[in-house]
Amino acid sequence: MSGKNQSSKAGSEKTGSKKESLFTKLVGIGRKKRYTQGAVNPVIQRASSIVFDSVAAKKAANKERNNGALYYGRHGTLTHFAFQEAMAELEGGAGCYLYPCGAAAINNAILAFVKTGDHILISEAVYEPTQTFCNDFLKDFGVSTDYFSPLIGEEIADKIKPNTKVVFLESPSSITMEVSDIPTIVQSIRKVNPEIVIIIDNTWSGGVYFKALEHDIDISIQAGTKYLIGHSDAMLGTAVANARCWDRLRDRSYLMGQTCDADTAYMASRGLRTLAVRLQRHHESGLKVANWLATHPKVATVNHPLLSSCKGHQYFKRDFTGASGLFSFVLKDHLDEATLANFLDNFSHFSIAFSWGGFESLILASQPEELKEIRPVSGVDFTGTLIRLHIGLEDPDDLIADLEAGLERIGN
Ligand SMILES: *Cc1c(COP(=O)(O)O)cnc(C)c1O
Repeated sequence: MSGKNQSSKAGSEKTGSKKESLFTKLVGIGRKKRYTQGAVNPVIQRASSIVFDSVAAKKAANKERNNGALYYGRHGTLTHFAFQEAMAELEGGAGCYLYPCGAAAINNAILAFVKTGDHILISEAVYEPTQTFCNDFLKDFGVSTDYFSPLIGEEIADKIKPNTKVVFLESPSSITMEVSDIPTIVQSIRKVNPEIVIIIDNTWSGGVYFKALEHDIDISIQAGTKYLIGHSDAMLGTAVANARCWDRLRDRSYLMGQTCDADTAYMASRGLRTLAVRLQRHHESGLKVANWLATHPKVATVNHPLLSSCKGHQYFKRDFTGASGLFSFVLKDHLDEATLANFLDNFSHFSIAFSWGGFESLILASQPEELKEIRPVSGVDFTGTLIRLHIGLEDPDDLIADLEAGLERIGN
């Protein structure tokens, strides 16, 4: 579905001035009367066919389909338009395209801007399936990929080739949480070739704590599955693009049949209302747990962007306005399989699961030798087992007690 949908007028009824607080903004965005039809929330409009009153009406809908007209289910309904408009406003873009999951958003955004013979540059520390998409799928279509360290600066310029079309970032990095110097990276790319499309996986910030498009990034992607949905009960991808990239992203994604159902779009709009409140709690509790871990004798390093032990912490302080609930820490010991299983299997409040961004706490482990394989430039500089936590909305003292008991289980 496509949805600029009068974004110039976005919020004129409900959201007031641009300077209002985020909390206020998230209550109002995407709630025009056209979408709510007099209720508080947007209607759930489920549709494949849109019925036209006449041939002339069908013609008009086709002409205006990228300007908010109802046209066909795949193109979106009022429920989608409401959420798309809200996201474009939240992240400051010309439009927001919706996908069935985060991976679809990432892969379709890249695909929209490359052809055979092109080259892309990607941080070595992005979400692993993004790497696999490049190494496997794009390679088969004759698009080559080079990796760079998330801690690269101006030297990104040396990696740009004449056929480089896309640079893909993710910050903080997946699992190891390095924070990139985004302004330096973006400016260095623009100096060499301003046409390059710069895309970021901005899932970690919820589109709230890092304003990607204000940093001259072209497309900000989120696995809406995480904080936007926020309750671990639906899957969604979002891509907010600036005016330069919006039309192409929208048209190519539509061509690829990307869409999501109206119920999921509704759930995402609903998630937005509490996003700032949830993130504030994730921020505070995450920091409390991270600070506690940093004092624990069995912990070697805590990779939380608010702590100076996290690589790129100085960029985080400069460029982000808060932290979400996902971070990692490295144990002094490399745990053997049985010890690690005993550690992970016996928590009261941390579940073992992929994904994150819901109300509940989660835990996963990675061994350094596994991480080394998915860090093709830098490898890893630690030897202990890495633990990734998502700190949910529980009382952080209960989570700390749970972790304390867990660390007891791993012996000395
Ligand atoms: C989960 C995740 C994705 C993929 O999202 P899905 O909705 O699971 O497809 C992409 N990027 C990051 C950083 C993620 O954490």
